[in-house]
Amino acid sequence: MRKNMVAGNWKMNTTLPEAQALISEIVHMVQDETTGSPAVEVVVCPPFPFLLPVGKLLQGGQFHLGAQNCHQKASGAFTGEVSAAMLQSVGCEYVILGHSERRQYFREDDELLSQKLKAALAAGLKPIFCVGETLETREQGDTFKHLEKQLKDGLFHLSNEEFDQVTVAYEPIWAIGTGKTATSQQAQEVHAFIREQIARAYDAKAALNTSILYGGSCNAQNARELFSQPDVDGGLIGGAALKSRDFTDIIKSF
Ligand code: PEP
Repeated sequence: MRKNMVAGNWKMNTTLPEAQALISEIVHMVQDETTGSPAVEVVVCPPFPFLLPVGKLLQGGQFHLGAQNCHQKASGAFTGEVSAAMLQSVGCEYVILGHSERRQYFREDDELLSQKLKAALAAGLKPIFCVGETLETREQGDTFKHLEKQLKDGLFHLSNEEFDQVTVAYEPIWAIGTGKTATSQQAQEVHAFIREQIARAYDAKAALNTSILYGGSCNAQNARELFSQPDVDGGLIGGAALKSRDFTDIIKSF
């Protein structure tokens, strides 16, 4: 179901005391400052070891717990890996898949990501599936072609029922952690394109019902304009999710 959403990807940051302090501040600020504001689902994605303690501090309501990755197999001899069922058992509802850092540094390709999506869905997790182009691809005028392929090969193999559980995140790689944000027009153009691709692969209802988040140097200053675009349903936030004041202001940007 389409909804306004802000998801914070903490990446490999914070110690346990820092994680607990950060989430406590965010929960209290949001509770104190957003009475009567439109409903926004907030998803917090801390590192694996902090899922349980952070989850305990979320206090339900609009706050939900997410992970940053999962393994494609259900269980077994995969030293150091974490399964979707493990995440579900510690209270995760969401899992980020296909983040450009996973694609780049861990060589996760569309085939592997399609297996991870299946594993996440089988365990009852809702995937936040990331797509996005490099600066080179954009400058060559191949953004849409690239996104079409990522969506087709990585995501559109899912059944209608499975796809219903998915949130898409458009994250131009040139904007991640760089301070360069896509303009609201660039974001809207791509989000509308993604929605059109969903309508083609599934149907108009699925396209209308899918939340599509923008990610890439989204901050307290630019969130309002980005989120006001008709096809932008919120944000996947990296750096600014580690600052309670900034993350709360982003949540208040709808
Ligand atoms: C991200 O890594 O998902 C992200 C959007 O990072 P940042 O907000 O720091 O650009």
